[in-house]
Amino acid sequence: MEYINYGEFVYKNDELYCEDIPVSQIIRNVGTPAYIYSKKYITRKYLSFSDAFKEVDHKIFYAVKSNSNLSILKIFAGLGSYFDANSIGEIERVERAGVSPSRIGFSGVGKTEEEIEFALSNEILVFKSESEEEIILIDQIAGRLNKKALVSVRVNPDVDPHTHPYISTGLAENKFGINAADSLDVFRRCSRLKNVILDGIDMHIGSQINNPEPFVEAVSKLSEIFFTLKGEEINLKHVDVGGGFGIKYKTEIPLNIIATANKLIPLFKKLDCEIYFEPGRFLTANSGILVSKVLYSKKNMNKHFIIVDAAMNDLIRPSLYDAYHYIQPLMVLNGKKDIYANIVGPVCESGDFFAKERVFPLMSRNDLIAIMSAGSYGMVMSSNYNARLRPAEVLVDNHSFSIIRSRETIRHMLYDEEELLKG
Ligand SMILES: *Cc1c(COP(=O)(O)O)cnc(C)c1O
Repeated sequence: MEYINYGEFVYKNDELYCEDIPVSQIIRNVGTPAYIYSKKYITRKYLSFSDAFKEVDHKIFYAVKSNSNLSILKIFAGLGSYFDANSIGEIERVERAGVSPSRIGFSGVGKTEEEIEFALSNEILVFKSESEEEIILIDQIAGRLNKKALVSVRVNPDVDPHTHPYISTGLAENKFGINAADSLDVFRRCSRLKNVILDGIDMHIGSQINNPEPFVEAVSKLSEIFFTLKGEEINLKHVDVGGGFGIKYKTEIPLNIIATANKLIPLFKKLDCEIYFEPGRFLTANSGILVSKVLYSKKNMNKHFIIVDAAMNDLIRPSLYDAYHYIQPLMVLNGKKDIYANIVGPVCESGDFFAKERVFPLMSRNDLIAIMSAGSYGMVMSSNYNARLRPAEVLVDNHSFSIIRSRETIRHMLYDEEELLKG
C-alpha cells in the first residue's frame, strides 16, 4: 500500500493532514461520512490557471456543476472568477453566494422557457446555446421583456478527447452543440434576430483531458468558423474553450496547464478576441476528499470486502463511470498485511463500490479511510437513495475548519412528505 499526497492533503507524522489540521481531528467533530475541502488548494489552482493564460485577455467561468457549495462559490467570487451555470438552481446558488448576475454564463443543452425568462430578468452576462430553436426562443422572450440577450453558440468540433465515452462531449454523435458544418448557417440566420446579439463561439469537448492536442485541434476548428464569420461582418467578441482540463486521479500524468497554454496562446493571439474558459474538475477535484469509516470486513469465497459507511449515494462516480478514486487510510498502518480488497458501501446494489481488487491493508472496525479527488462531481451528484442522509461538508483554511453544509437530518430527507401524508 502506497500513501500518496494530493495537493493540500499530505501525510505528516504518519497521518493525513488537510493544510495544517489532522483530518482525524475534523472527523472527531463532524463524524463520517464527510467531505473535506481545502481553500488554499482551490486558490492556488485558480491562480495557476489564470496566470498560465495571462498573456491573453480572458475570463474564467468556474463550472458550478462540479461543486456548488455556497462557501466554495464564495472562494471563487473572491478570486474574481466568473461562473458557468446550468440551471435556475445553479444561478440561484451563485447569486446567493453574493455574486452579481453579470458574472454568470448560462450553459446547457436544454434550457426551459422559465429558465430563459429568469436569466434575462436577472440580467446574466451571456447565454451559451446549443440549438437554433433555443436561440430563436431567447430572441422572442428577450423581445417580450424588452431586453437584448448576448448569446454564444456551442459548436461541436468533432474532436476525440480520448477520454471516457460518458464524459466525451465533442464528437459528432453527441447530443451537445451544433455540428461545425451546420453552424455557419445557424450563425448567419441568428445574426438577423433583433433581440439577440451574437457574442461568441463556444465548445466543450469532454472531461478529464490530459494532453493539449484535443484542445489545439478544436480551437483550430473554431478559429476557421470565427474567421469565416468575420469575413461576412459577423464579428464575434469571444471564443469559449469550455472545460475538461484533466487532473491526477492516480497514474495519469495530469494536464500541464503551462504547456497547454503555450500551445494555445499563439492561436488565441491570432483570434484577437476575448477568451473564455470553463474549468471545473481542474480547480476542485483534488481540493476535496470523502472520509468514511470502516464498518466491517469479511471474506466471501476468495474475496475480501471492506464495508464502509459511505456509499454510492454519497459519491457515485465509481458506480456511474467506473471512475478510479485512490483510497488510503487516514493513519499510516505499519505492519498490517496488504490484501486485495473490494471497498464497498452499505447500499443494496452490486454497483455500490468504491474500489475493486485494490491492494489495501486489512482494516479494522472504526478505521478511517480517505477517498481522494472527491472535490468535483462528488457531493453535487449525491442523493438520498436508500433514504440515506447526505454527508456533511467541511472547508479547511490553514489551522481552522468550518462546516459549510451540515449533515442532513431526517427532516431534510422527508422534505414535506409527512405534512402531505396528513393532508
Ligand atoms: C461539465 C462542463 C464543464 C466543466 O467540465 P470539467 O471537466 O469539470 O472541467 C464546462 N463547460 C461545460 C459546458 C460543461 O458541460
